[in-house]
Amino acid sequence: MDQGGYLNKIFRTIEKYRLVEKGDKIFVALSGGKDSAAVLFALKKFNEERDPDFEIVGFHINLGTIGSEKIQEIVEKQCELAGVKLVVFELKKEGIDLGEIAKKNRRPICGVCGVIKRYLMNKIPRELGATKIATGHHGDDILVFFIKNILGMNYSWIGKFRPKAESDNPKLLTKIRPLFFVGRKENEEFVKNLGVPYVQESLCIYFKEKIKLYEKTNKWYDIIDRLESEAPGFKERLLNSVIKMSTYFESEDQLKFCKICGEPTNTEICAFCRLTGKTKNSKL
Ligand code: AMP
Ligand code: ZN
Repeated sequence: MDQGGYLNKIFRTIEKYRLVEKGDKIFVALSGGKDSAAVLFALKKFNEERDPDFEIVGFHINLGTIGSEKIQEIVEKQCELAGVKLVVFELKKEGIDLGEIAKKNRRPICGVCGVIKRYLMNKIPRELGATKIATGHHGDDILVFFIKNILGMNYSWIGKFRPKAESDNPKLLTKIRPLFFVGRKENEEFVKNLGVPYVQESLCIYFKEKIKLYEKTNKWYDIIDRLESEAPGFKERLLNSVIKMSTYFESEDQLKFCKICGEPTNTEICAFCRLTGKTKNSKL
């Protein structure tokens, strides 16, 4: 797909689902990878070309594992090229050691990392005045996740499958996914064409833990790619159907506030506090 067509698809998503508004302060969650870099540059281009006048800030969580410094450097470079401010949250500096937490809780490190990232991606930008957080989730991600959940008869996630996940909880930031209707390969082509540096997922030292999962996901990626080439428009039609379906599965559970940290959760004590053993007097 040419760059114009790619950006048009993203711009249409932003406008149709009202992902941005004038005066927004949007934090883009940057992992260092191609997808989140694509969000950064697509939002920047949208701001320049359609002039809705919002602020873009880069946000990166330095996970404090081997290779994290290199990843941070790449994220810094991405933000420099985009001309946006970057906020970095360093786990090690805040006394959070992923390996230690995983060991203590006897949980796989990738699961621990996910909980910690989700928590901080909401808390830190919100405290810094963000109105929304943008992530690099793309159409292929959503379709594969959707298919896996359907096959596993797990319908509770379907309510979340949309380009904009708004919340009525004042402490939960609205999440936007501008790449909802584009795929991983198009994102890669876009950032490559712009000459933006990015890291490969496999740079994570815990990648080995995830390799089986990645292989399975890749298989599904191939399947949906094949379906798309056999029946052009398949992905877009299914994504639209997923959005419609999500309205039938809207989550009804009211979010509460964690008894320890006060952050939004659907349990008494949030997953972050349970994992980190945080108490009321802890700093974070
Ligand atoms: P993942 O769960 O690793 O597939 O990442 C999903 C999205 O979360 C990415 O597209 C990014 O927008 C964001 N993200 C992942 N890792 C980080 C990180 N270390 N710092 C900031 N945002 C991240
Ligand atoms: Zn908590």
